[in-house]
Amino acid sequence: MFEQSQMERKAAARIDEARRQIEICNACRYCEGYCSVFPAIMRQRSFADADVTQFANLCHNCRGCYYACQYTEPHEFDLNLPGILAEVRTESWERFAWPSPLARLFQRSGTALAVALMLGFAVLFWAAQTLRPESGEGFYAVMSHGLMVSVFMPAFLLPLLALFVSLRRYWRHVGGQGVGRSQIRQALSRAAYMKDLSGGQGQGCNFEDEDRFSNARRYAHQAVVWGVFMCFGSTISGTIMHYVFDWPAPYGLLSLPKLLGVPGGLLLTAGCLELARLKLKAEPALGARRVWAGEMGFVLLLGFVSLSGLLLYASAGTAAVAVLLPLHLGAVLTFFLLMPYTKMAHGFFRLAALIKDAAGN
Ligand code: SF4
Ligand code: SF4
Repeated sequence: MFEQSQMERKAAARIDEARRQIEICNACRYCEGYCSVFPAIMRQRSFADADVTQFANLCHNCRGCYYACQYTEPHEFDLNLPGILAEVRTESWERFAWPSPLARLFQRSGTALAVALMLGFAVLFWAAQTLRPESGEGFYAVMSHGLMVSVFMPAFLLPLLALFVSLRRYWRHVGGQGVGRSQIRQALSRAAYMKDLSGGQGQGCNFEDEDRFSNARRYAHQAVVWGVFMCFGSTISGTIMHYVFDWPAPYGLLSLPKLLGVPGGLLLTAGCLELARLKLKAEPALGARRVWAGEMGFVLLLGFVSLSGLLLYASAGTAAVAVLLPLHLGAVLTFFLLMPYTKMAHGFFRLAALIKDAAGN
């Protein structure tokens, strides 16, 4: 109880600090064209807690405004808008997450939790291989299709339910109302192009280096997002082929699951490696310092999911499958179960913030 109220006091102090900085920006307006945050700020004269939370979720932590700002340390205003918005943003995910104690646990010890779960699940999947099915080809010769579906179906649906509850809480908190199709289209297009990561002028942001504009972070994010979509499309097409066309795996290289899955896995692996590299180069004080390790752990977990999937495909028919399959399945299961409490939630919250921004309500 004491810990809870202490956390609430810290969260309130972060919101107050963000409000102070936003009010200075609203008077200055130098960064007007940088991203979606500043036009949203400039539509208002006063800022409730919910407004601050909405701005924080619109921010992409590109850091362009920090390096352009004349009021950063040692100026007495001591502005660090990317840093304080990152703190408010991660705190909002914890607060709206369902169930929220899980989110707090992940933020406290995310990397250790992810590694423990992944290895624990891998051992269970490895043990399950002893129940080797009597028939089945490819990976299904090692682990039955029925066992995989009975584990992964709830592991996929439960996190989606948790995300739905979290987003509904967010939407209510920020005062979101009904939206039309055009607002949703506009938000989806902004999310797909990630225009806010282009720094407003198209040259990119200064995430890695104060003096150099770069689109590297934008492209890495796009690689991750499109890689996830393609891998998801690969799984969906494989499911349709299995159940609708009675065409079970394994599939050839020119089949839809592989045409989507292999390039999707490559994109995802490359995107995660680049995001990890950029995170190592960037200044931690301009992000949410207390969750740096958890965020890095999540990027590495996602990268491991895609890399182990590619290795598994490459080693089909060899003895390495018996080791790689449990590791890959353990990583995928951990990724699904932790999804509502990790950086992955950022994509969903940001989309909600963009829809709210497009609706202007
Ligand atoms: S970040 Fe600095 S330069 Fe940019 S609008 Fe705010 S006060 Fe002005
Ligand atoms: S860090 Fe980037 S996205 Fe966030 S407010 Fe500054 S310019 Fe906008």
